[in-house]
Amino acid sequence: MRDRIPPLPSRDPPAANAAIEQGAQYFLWIAGDPVVDFVNTVRLRHRGGVELLRVPADLDAWLATTFGTTSRRSTQGDLATARSLREAVDLCLLAAAGHATVVPNALAHLNQHMEQAPLVWNGECFTRAPAATAAQALSRLAADAATLLEHRAHHIRLCDGPDCSLRLVDASRARPRRWCSMAACGNRTKAHRRRGRATQPGTG
Ligand SMILES: [Zn+2]
Repeated sequence: MRDRIPPLPSRDPPAANAAIEQGAQYFLWIAGDPVVDFVNTVRLRHRGGVELLRVPADLDAWLATTFGTTSRRSTQGDLATARSLREAVDLCLLAAAGHATVVPNALAHLNQHMEQAPLVWNGECFTRAPAATAAQALSRLAADAATLLEHRAHHIRLCDGPDCSLRLVDASRARPRRWCSMAACGNRTKAHRRRGRATQPGTG
C-alpha cells in the first residue's frame, strides 16, 4: 500500500497549500518513507503548521493507506497519541538532519511506543505484531521510525523549496535529493533563482 499514487493536487505541495489552509485534506506520499510521510501530516511547519490529522477519521484514513486495514475506529485519544508520537519523531528527524539537537524526552517518547510493536513468529516467518488497532499501528510506526533513524539518519533532509519545509529521505546515490518534488519545489526554486539573477544590476 505504500506506493499508492496520490491524487494529482498532492504532487504539488505548494499548490495544495492554499487548499489545505482552506480545510482540504491532502496527504502526501512522497517523502521516501511512510514514517516521514506521517510527520508531513503537519504541513507548512515553517509557518506555524497546518494540521491534517484533524479528527480520528483522518487518522483512520492515513493508517488505512499505510497499513492496508480499513476497519480501525480511532478514538480522540488515539488521535492525541498519534500527534504526540508524530511530533516526537519530528524532533528526532530534525536532529538527524542537523537542524536541532536531540531532545531526550522525544527519544523517550518514541521508545515508549516501540514496546507495543514486538517481533513475533507466525509459524512460518518472523513478523511484526499486526497493526489491527490504531495503538498497534502507531507502535509499528514508532518501530519503523527507530529503524529509519538507526540506519538512514544521514539521508533525512528538509525540502529546500521557498515555501516548503516537508521532511524527506534522500535515497539517491548519484544526485542528492533537495526537494520534496522536482516538479513542484525544484522548478519553483530554479525559477526563483532565475528571477533573482535577472533583477540584479548588470545581469539583464
Ligand atoms: Zn518542497
